[in-house]
Amino acid sequence: MDNCIFCKIVKREIPASIVYEDSDLLAFKDINPIDKVHLLIIPKEHIENLFYCKEQHKETLSKMMFLAPKLAKENGLEGFRTMINTGEKGGQEVFHIHFHVYGGSEKLAKI
Ligand code: 5GP
Ligand code: ZN
Repeated sequence: MDNCIFCKIVKREIPASIVYEDSDLLAFKDINPIDKVHLLIIPKEHIENLFYCKEQHKETLSKMMFLAPKLAKENGLEGFRTMINTGEKGGQEVFHIHFHVYGGSEKLAKI
């Protein structure tokens, strides 16, 4: 997708603080963190949101879920919150599916 910020991060057209990469996934620090640690896990493939996930995306989604605790641990978190905003009415601002993984403060932020 030409005008997608996260696709541009995948293609290294805009910078990001990348913490993980494999053939299917990328994870990087949220530019506007709501907690001490705030990471975003995305598939490299452009999928708009959960409404657009199909049977063929099962494995990628599963990999994203398994990556969350691994990255949380690597970033020193003993617990974390995962959030997936879906659609404008679900608080989604960037329309390339992403899992928020955040934590680190005494009181967890909610958005
Ligand atoms: P959403 O509301 O769509 O679930 O969350 C989008 C997230 O992407 C927000 O937390 C926002 O701070 C983050 N974000 C938006 N643009 C950029 C960017 O260019 N780089 C990074 N690293 N994060 C971004
Ligand atoms: Zn995209």
